[in-house]
Amino acid sequence: MGALKADCPGAINVVMLGPPGAGKGTQAERLSRTRKLPKISTGDILREAVQAGTSVGRAAKETMEAGNLIGDDIMIAIVQDRLDRPDAHCGFVLDGFPRTVVQATALDRMVADSGPLVVLDMAVPEDVLVRRLATRRICSKCGANAAPDWKTTCGKCGGALVTRVDDGIEIVRERLKVYLRQTKPLVEYYSARPTFSSIDGNRPPDLVTADVDAALDAAKDAAGRGVAL
Ligand code: AMP
Repeated sequence: MGALKADCPGAINVVMLGPPGAGKGTQAERLSRTRKLPKISTGDILREAVQAGTSVGRAAKETMEAGNLIGDDIMIAIVQDRLDRPDAHCGFVLDGFPRTVVQATALDRMVADSGPLVVLDMAVPEDVLVRRLATRRICSKCGANAAPDWKTTCGKCGGALVTRVDDGIEIVRERLKVYLRQTKPLVEYYSARPTFSSIDGNRPPDLVTADVDAALDAAKDAAGRGVAL
């Protein structure tokens, strides 16, 4: 889906799909580094807005803390705004968007002339997700997911490591329900496309990364050969 950009023939747009705790952020971070694509995490954008106390942040705080989704209109506007910035012109990695069919339809419109949209769905069993989220810590300053060897401070910026407010067990269960109801239907929305791949996310991160890389290379090859994606 999406014609190649005349001034940016290698453009590739990536969507990381999957439930909370599937490893989307970790893999998006790696892709962003190796492929030199901006990582766009809507969760990070919202958490920054909450911390900065902007009007979007004030409106989103309660909904996020309850584990529910922010309205489609506001999310679509945030992402459109971000994709319009020059660094996203030749591709991007989206982490946490789209989360509803309405958002996915809007994204298709946004990238219609911007190269293929590669959708990587990370599959992880629910009990593993719950365990991962219960022990997850993030940096209070830069938002990075803590690596296993970081004790109390962030290995990137030195910020203090904290538990996310929405990683408490009750909220995690709510977020998983919201995922099943509103986001899982996106697998069906995308799965017939040649640029869709399902990836087993219940493995060590390096093995997952190898599959992510292979899926991206296959899509790039196909686009380079002029296959309609
Ligand atoms: P995440 O860091 O991706 O788990 O997102 C944290 C929270 O931000 C979610 O539980 C939602 O409340 C909100 N959020 C992030 N992305 C979206 C989105 N695309 N649509 C609606 N709400 C979102």
